Amino acid sequence: MAFWKTLRRKGGGALPGDIDCEAVTARLYEYIDGELDDPQTVEKIRRHLDLCKLCFPHYDFEKAFLRYISEHGRTSAPPELKRRIFKAILEEESRD
Ligand SMILES: [Zn+2]
Repeated sequence: MAFWKTLRRKGGGALPGDIDCEAVTARLYEYIDGELDDPQTVEKIRRHLDLCKLCFPHYDFEKAFLRYISEHGRTSAPPELKRRIFKAILEEESRD
């Protein structure tokens, strides 16, 4: 137990993919768009998203959102619109 606590406090090996949630969410758009040019960072984020229960729903949403705006010809949207689209996506998916 004490061993894991030490790792977590130091921000070491207890982090999924050796990268923290903040760093992952900060690069999420670039990751989804394939704009990250550092393969090691891409791999870390991929592993993090595989393991992290906190980040994955966020990743899923961003992916769905980017798909939506690309289908509707938008490249950016204000947060309020983003929330409305997110709600629409959730409602659409809960109908299946
Ligand atoms: Zn995370």
